[in-house]
Amino acid sequence: MDKQAKIYVAGHRGLVGAAIIKALQKAGYVNILTAGHEELDLINQEAVANFFDREKPEYVFLAAAKVGGILANSLYPADFIYQNLMIEANVIQQAYLKGVRKLLFLGSSCIYPKLAEQPIKEDALLTGILESTNEAYAIAKICGIKLCQAYNQQHKTKYISVMPTNLYGPNDNFDLESSHVLPALIRKLHEGKEHKAKQVTVWGTGNPVREFLYVDDLADACLYLMENYEQSKIVNIGTGIGITIHELAKKIRDVVGFEGNIIFDTTKPDGTPVKINDVAYLACLGWRASTDLDMGLRQTYQWYCENYPSSNKGR
Ligand code: GDP
Repeated sequence: MDKQAKIYVAGHRGLVGAAIIKALQKAGYVNILTAGHEELDLINQEAVANFFDREKPEYVFLAAAKVGGILANSLYPADFIYQNLMIEANVIQQAYLKGVRKLLFLGSSCIYPKLAEQPIKEDALLTGILESTNEAYAIAKICGIKLCQAYNQQHKTKYISVMPTNLYGPNDNFDLESSHVLPALIRKLHEGKEHKAKQVTVWGTGNPVREFLYVDDLADACLYLMENYEQSKIVNIGTGIGITIHELAKKIRDVVGFEGNIIFDTTKPDGTPVKINDVAYLACLGWRASTDLDMGLRQTYQWYCENYPSSNKGR
């Protein structure tokens, strides 16, 4: 990519989009295009067509998506499937019509079968049934991958798809109803410390295993692949290292300095038992994660403290 190239980052206010912007700026890209939701509704086909006509981006990072944790996914499956399908279809079709040189689509490791062999290889896609708590979201993301591959096959485009594992970092969503586990536990344990609570509740049994990637590492990998990769084959992004939710909660308790107990609410779902990406393909392509979980947690907690100065504001 030329440093002057016009690069559209869809979803620039989200966890991933904000980190991609930061990585692009750091790498010296000067012509970055963004559009807030008030300016461009990506679900609206005509609005997206007009935006691409007017702005003529040369590269697209498709990081805009309706995302959420296990509870939000179980409660609002229609929102997750509809909004994600529309965003992907609109952006990818307009990218094709307006001659975008290359597009990177952000998928998710939840597209893989619930009981996929661990760590999960890219070729596990569509080999088994999905985890029910986020099936609607996963189906929409699988459609995004298939859109990219179909356009590549039929129209000779260069649309690449990456499958990040569970992400965390600055600009994450810390809302307890809709967030993922890591930001939720930062907030719960921080508030527990502030209120000198005797205990903090973690959902599920604490036994599920997840892998966590710091979002700046993800952004770095996306930029690396945008610059160096052009095949249709999907690419996992992660650390390859898993941790139980219980162990994660203990780590966060230490970072935050909460002195009470951690208890488990087993009426809440566990979701997929284990989810760890096999990152061998990405390593072959020349990229590895560099931020370890302890460091990433400290940085994320610092960001949380600076941006959520009082946890009593109900944000
Ligand atoms: P998943 O990776 O798609 O299952 O999404 P989540 O990040 O939402 O949940 C991961 C695991 O953490 C599940 O087993 C949840 O039950 C568990 N968990 C424990 N406490 C919490 C919490 O406060 N919020 C969320 N979202 N998950 C939690």
